[in-house]
Amino acid sequence: MSTSLASQRFDIAIIGAGPAGLEAAITAKIRNKSVIIFESGATHLAGEHKIENYLGLPDVTGQKLNRKFVAHAKNFDLEITADRITEVIDFGEFFSIQGENNLYEARSVILATGSVRATPLPGETKFLGHGVSYCATCDGRAYRDKDTVVIAYAASDETETRFLCQLAAHVYYYPQYADAFSQEPPPKNLELAQGRPANITQSEDKKMVVSFGESTVSVDGVFIFRPTSPPWRLLPDLNIEGNRVVIDRAGKTNLPGVFAAGDLTGAPYQYIKAAGEGNVAALSAVTYLDTVSKLQSL
Ligand SMILES: Cc1cc2nc3c(=O)[nH]c(=O)nc-3n(C[C@H](O)[C@H](O)[C@H](O)COP(=O)(O)OP(=O)(O)OC[C@H]3O[C@@H](n4cnc5c(N)ncnc54)[C@H](O)[C@@H]3O)c2cc1C
Repeated sequence: MSTSLASQRFDIAIIGAGPAGLEAAITAKIRNKSVIIFESGATHLAGEHKIENYLGLPDVTGQKLNRKFVAHAKNFDLEITADRITEVIDFGEFFSIQGENNLYEARSVILATGSVRATPLPGETKFLGHGVSYCATCDGRAYRDKDTVVIAYAASDETETRFLCQLAAHVYYYPQYADAFSQEPPPKNLELAQGRPANITQSEDKKMVVSFGESTVSVDGVFIFRPTSPPWRLLPDLNIEGNRVVIDRAGKTNLPGVFAAGDLTGAPYQYIKAAGEGNVAALSAVTYLDTVSKLQSL
């Protein structure tokens, strides 16, 4: 990825290159806005399955429709940047968008990351950055010689956990998958435990208390490693209901300058609904940008 993209401030950063993100990008481009689109892997569109309810294309596979969408975007000189976005920070005048490969800037953001297959644990977002973390590399040092809990959803999280074990005094590891550490034994200060996390609270002495049904564990920090980046990880102050980002009819979230479209706003999970919401979110982002520009020129 070229550094020129990273050093440019875009009008709109669109996180997601499925039907919601690509429709948003095309609409924004037609309205003369500069756009950057991110993807972190395949969209749900990329499958071989046949789609029967997409208007005007009665006999098309997901893969073919995806190719048509990408080609349509290319006609507008829109390129897709492959970079998994891990955090979005609001600096007032612009958003700083942290990807795994680069840091970007944009004046507004459209979230179009697809369906969220997880719900936050009760208490999780409340203590984000204050006892709950998603990244040992970023936050592990704050827990040097302290006790931590790791809730992990995939064997690939064991590498990040091994790193945490080099810093923390003790790590209680709660795998939410089978056969944890079956390839290589865990470090000595890691204790393999069992249980489904139920909620996270804080005691009066500022310890994090994680409840696993009947049992609880009290530690200094909680690390949650999930395979996907749910939207509340990108923007912790987002209004979430269950596992969906709450939007109004204009695709606005509760955060000024942040819009959302597609499966992540909830059911029905349908291509045409995703594309329609992408269109609405882009038009709202354009109105937002034009209003902000007018106010700034007064
Ligand atoms: C097997 C199957 C069959 C289906 N059949 C139909 C059907 O017949 N008719 C129908 O209407 N619908 C169908 N659907 C549903 C349809 O696929 C979805 O509704 C649609 O793809 C949602 O579009 P979206 O843009 O919201 O998200 P997605 O298509 O899921 O795209 C999400 C995008 O976000 C990107 N992304 C996610 N996280 C990040 C991140 N952190 N950083 C950067 N990029 C990120 C991904 O790489 C991807 O590009 C089907 C779904 C499946 C799985």
